[in-house]
Order: sequence, then structure tokens, then C-alpha cells
Amino acid sequence: MSDLLTTSVEYLKGVGPKRAELLRKELGVETFGDLLNQYPFRYIDKTQFHRIGEIQEENTYVQLRGILRRLDLIGEGRKRRLSGQFRDESGVVDLVWFSGVHFLQKQLVVGQEYILYGRVNAFRDQYSIAHPEMEVYTPEAAQTASFFAPVYPSTEKLNNQGLDAKTRRRLTRILLDRLTPAEVPENLPDYLLQKLRFCSRLEALEGIHFPKSAEQLEAARNRLKFEELFFLQMRLLQLKRRRQQSVRGFSFDQIGTHFNHFFSDILPFSLTEAQKRVLREIRRDLGSGIQMNRLLQGDVGSGKTVVGFMTMLMAVDNGYQACLMAPTEILAQQHYLSISAYGEAMGLEVAFLAGSVKGKKRQAILDKLASGEIHLIIGTHALLEDPVVFHRLGLAITDEQHRFGVEQRARLWRKSQPYPPHVLVMTATPIPRTLAMTLYGDLDVSVIDELPPGRKEIITQHRTENHRLRVLGFMREQIALGRQVYVVYPMIEESEKLDLKNLMEGYEALSREFPPPEYQLSIVHGKMKAADKDYEMQRFVSGQTQIMVATTVIEVGVNVPNATVMVIENTERFGLSQLHQLRGRVGRGGDQSYCLLMSSFKLSSESRERIQTMVRTTDGFQIAEADLRLRGPGNIEGTQQSGMINLRIADLARDGRILQSAREIAMRILDHDPSLQRPEHQSIKQHLVSNNRESRVWSRIS
Ligand code: ADP
Ligand code: MG
Repeated sequence: MSDLLTTSVEYLKGVGPKRAELLRKELGVETFGDLLNQYPFRYIDKTQFHRIGEIQEENTYVQLRGILRRLDLIGEGRKRRLSGQFRDESGVVDLVWFSGVHFLQKQLVVGQEYILYGRVNAFRDQYSIAHPEMEVYTPEAAQTASFFAPVYPSTEKLNNQGLDAKTRRRLTRILLDRLTPAEVPENLPDYLLQKLRFCSRLEALEGIHFPKSAEQLEAARNRLKFEELFFLQMRLLQLKRRRQQSVRGFSFDQIGTHFNHFFSDILPFSLTEAQKRVLREIRRDLGSGIQMNRLLQGDVGSGKTVVGFMTMLMAVDNGYQACLMAPTEILAQQHYLSISAYGEAMGLEVAFLAGSVKGKKRQAILDKLASGEIHLIIGTHALLEDPVVFHRLGLAITDEQHRFGVEQRARLWRKSQPYPPHVLVMTATPIPRTLAMTLYGDLDVSVIDELPPGRKEIITQHRTENHRLRVLGFMREQIALGRQVYVVYPMIEESEKLDLKNLMEGYEALSREFPPPEYQLSIVHGKMKAADKDYEMQRFVSGQTQIMVATTVIEVGVNVPNATVMVIENTERFGLSQLHQLRGRVGRGGDQSYCLLMSSFKLSSESRERIQTMVRTTDGFQIAEADLRLRGPGNIEGTQQSGMINLRIADLARDGRILQSAREIAMRILDHDPSLQRPEHQSIKQHLVSNNRESRVWSRIS
């Protein structure tokens, strides 16, 4: 590794301790290498000089060559500014600076010839340029000026301390000029460079900072994107391999009586091919002697629960207990209902544990769990509490959860000896492939990408306020057919009060439209006590109420097959993945189901696109891709907390192809040379070691 790149940026000509501190604070730039790794976010075309007399429009960027004519400090206090005049043979423009005026006044020389760059404003028939970049004219400067000039992320503080765009550019230029190829060692093997037709690393850096043509920029981008994604995948895949080598697990060798009995005698339908494939993948993990760490992705209604249950049977058949955790008590309860029905048919002891289970009842469950009498336990995160002791926990399943936090993982691992339990995480939030490859790149991922046969596509329509009466009429028709209806209101933190008001008003209006005794309504929102929520929910689940008015608390997992209509109010305020989850609450029985997206007439183009996406498709993966495109990876659920998608140049919404190839190549290399021993892979190894600082802490799901 070259020492130059790890040298503190303080020692770069023109920086010094004060600016170095500023660069560190404002941009996190500490070394020469960091500075080089700050890529421009855009470029300005400096391939030609303009003539002042030919400027025709404001808001255009121009590059001029001419003489600074005047320079005066005018105004007082906060209104103080530096005013100048610049002229070439064709005309005159005014110049003005509002900050850094003293510094500039000392720097700039009246009568000097400059190359000037800036954006033109029009003011009282006179063109002017605020905060232009100025560089003393020399033939060499004119030469280097003639390409696309990089624009770097900056802050006001940096600008005020003389670290403006121009200076940043100059620093990067000085640095690049000092670098020799030896100081930017190649980090990809020759055979890859040739195969992928990549330029050298030094060329790529030159090309990304100071491209002389669009082609050069493209070549640099290609290589740097690949490099970034490749090393990310290398790290993830190495982590995965290390885990697979070091975290031993219980070996479930038997496919035994319970599994077979359930499969042939009790399972009321045939499994889809996707379900079978996933069960085979799980089965392979469980028999491998290594702890399973598998994410099971499957759209709403794809049948994850039965796969989870059959995995639990594999544990039971090998003499282990299994638990299933859900994020809310309602969801846990629903899982308990379906799993205990299956379990009882097979003589298994299935228990439920959540915050609401108290006193003697709780103690009895804890005792039976510790003695091993209970085979399967379903509950909330109450299962992770310390008094919960298992006889022999072999498998933990979580539903609708993102990764465990470190603390939760530790709690889970403490419950099982001598190995941690196998872990299966089920999620109905479809994650775009590119995100899955990065967010979950160190995990094993199974996907159920097929719905059970015979499902009717949910009919989705966009409706505005003037359709309200027809929507109410439609609800009445469906209720007359014996069906049930959800009406969902947004509820977000910032405007909680207003949201609650909307919800209550909506509820009252609906109560007038659907009066008792003919109609009964349930209401559920996040401000209610858990017990009240459960009561209201239960009335809807059991069919005593026909309409459920709710906020997004019902978003995840609730299963009422008789509900056929989902009305979403203020649809524009929901994100795509939320809408998809909500729609998934209907269409769970055999009847044709409907999703009506209510919104105001006026919509932002993004809201409109979200609604159109929902109307166009019910495929969760397509919706997730659209979400990624509309909002960018940083805003997709589950990515913020992880802070993982912090890429410098690659874009997960656009660079899927590069990512795919980077991952495949990384896999192939590790398959053939797991510890990177071969001479041709030393460059990769070196890079991984010396850039270790960049690798974030990737947590396992368990
Ligand atoms: P998910 O949890 O993935 O949203 P569920 O496991 O709740 O989906 O399954 C949804 C419904 O589909 C359940 O009523 C379940 O019994 C049923 N189901 C699951 N797999 C199949 C299958 N292969 N064929 C028919 N119905 C199925
Ligand atoms: Mg489910």
C-alpha cells in the first residue's frame, strides 16, 4: 500500500492543519486517499470560452477569458460585499461576492488576466455573475481548463474558508499529479482487467475527476462502480463463508414421523414448487452441522407459514423444541391459531406466550417449556426474556422482522446449548434483488416466488372524492354478500393528532352510513390499549363486525379470508411497500377481492406514479423495484437503520447488472481460491486488508 494515500491531507500543498480539520469535520476527509475517493457529483462543461458580448440568457454557465477591471468593497455589516467588473474584447459583466470578501480582496488583482467561470444572472439589463471561480490566465491554465470540470460535494463552511469548488479541484489536481502508478496499486487481477476491458486504477481516478471526454468518464465510472460493488460482495461472501465454517449448529439428520405424517395425511393442499424448493434448501442447512441463517422471502399469501411450520416439525423429529416470534401480539395470536390447529391434529403441545399471558398461566407455560413438555411455542419478543428457558431449543423462526439487533441475537443464543439455534427469518416485504444482494448478501436467502394456485388477482382502482358515494354503495353490496371490508387511514408520527382526528371523523361518518343494528364496525389504532385493540380485532376476525376502520397497525400479516374490500384513504400519504402490504390483507379467501385507492384529485407526480404502479401490478417484486427507483435505496424500509447502503458511486437502482456480475465473479474467485492464496489474487487481498476501515459492521440475522 502506498504511503502517500494514507498521508494526512494536512500535508497536501495548500491545506495545512486548519483546513485539514475542516475537511475532516465537514466531509470526513482525513487522508490523501479520502480526498481522491470523493468523486464529483457532477461536471461542468469547460470545453470552450464564451464571449461576454454573446451572452444571451441568464442561468447559463459560462467560461470567460478577460481582465479584472475594478474591485470595490461596498456596503456595511451584513450587507457588505465585494463588487467587481470583468471585461473581454466583446463586453463587460459585473461580478459580486457576498462571503469570503476580505480573503478575495487580497487574492484578486485588478488589471490581471483571468479565466472566469460562473453562472450568469440578469439584473436591470446588465448581466452579472455571483461568486465566479477565477483563475489567473496562463496558457497552461487555459489548457487544463478545457475539459469537464468536476463539482464536489461541499458545505458553506468549506466555501467560506477558501475551500471552494475551485480550490477543491486544484487540490485534487495536485494530488493526482503527484501520484505514480506504483502508488495506486492495481486491486483487480490482470485477467479480470482484460476480460472486462477495464482501464487501470490510476486512469480511472484521472477519468472520474478530470474527464477529457464523455467516453473517458464512462470508462472510469464503469470500473469504479464495479470495483466498489466487487469489494463489497467480497466482504459479504467472506463473512458468509467464515460463519459457515465457524458457527456450528445442531444437525437435524432425521426427516421423521411428524414431518411425514403431516405431509401425507394432514396438509390440506399440495405444496407449490417454490415451497418444495425452499423446504429442500432449509433441509440441506439443517442437516449440515452448521447453524442455519436463512432469510425466507415470499410475497403476502405465498404460503410462508406452512413452510415455517414444516421446518418446526423437522426440529421436533430430531428431539428439539422450536419457537416462532412475531412483532405484535395480534400476529402471534394468528400464527398460534393456525399452528396449534395443525399441531393438535398431530398430538403436539403448542403454547402461546406474550406480554398479556400473566400469573399462573405464564408460570405453567414456563415450567412446561423448561421440562420439554411443550414442543412448539409461538409468541412475541416476550420469548426472548430471561425467565424463558427452553429444554432443548433447536430452531427459532421470526415473522415479518428485519434482522435481529445484536442484543436480541445474544439473548436468543443464550437460550440454546451448546450451539445457537437454527434461525429462519420470514419476510413478506419483497426486497429488490440488488438490495437483497447487498443488505442480505452475507445470508442464505430463499424466495417463494409463486402463489398457490387458484388465487384471483385483486382488482385495484384509483378513486377520488367525487366517487365517494359509489364507493360506499360498493361496500354495501359486498357486505350484503356476507363479505367484510377494511378502511385504512394513514398514521404517521409528525401529524399524529391530525391523523387521529381524520380517523375518528372517518369512523363517525362510516357509522352514519352503516348504522347498527344492521351493521357493526370495529376500530383499531396505535393509541389504543393492547387489550382493546385485540378485542376489536377479534370481533372482526370472528365476523361479528363487517367493517374494520384502522390505521396501518393492521398492515402486517393479519389474516381474515372473508375480507374482500380494502379501502385506503389518503393513499398519497402511504409508501409503496405499505400499500402493497395493506392490499395483501384482502384476496386471502376464494372470493374476488378489491382494493380501492382513495386520494385527492391533485397529486404530485410521484404520488401519481405510486398509485399507478399499484393499479398496474400486484407483483411485490415489481412494486419493490418501483419503490427503489422512486425513492432511492437509502429510503427503502430496513436500509436506514443498517446504514449499509452507503455507496460512493454505484447506484443500486441502476447498476443491477454490474452488481450481479461483481457478485458472480467474487463467488467464482472464492470458490476456487477461498483464502486468496494464489499470486494473481494478491492484489485483491491487499486491497481488502488496507481498506478494512471501510468495511462496516455487518450483523447476521442471528
Ligand atoms: P404468507 O404468510 O406467506 O403471507 P400464509 O402462509 O399465511 O402466507 O398463506 C396464505 C394462505 O394460503 C393460507 O390460508 C394458507 O393455508 C394457504 N396456502 C399456503 N400454501 C398453499 C398451497 N400450496 N396451496 C394452497 N393454499 C396454500
Ligand atoms: Mg404470514
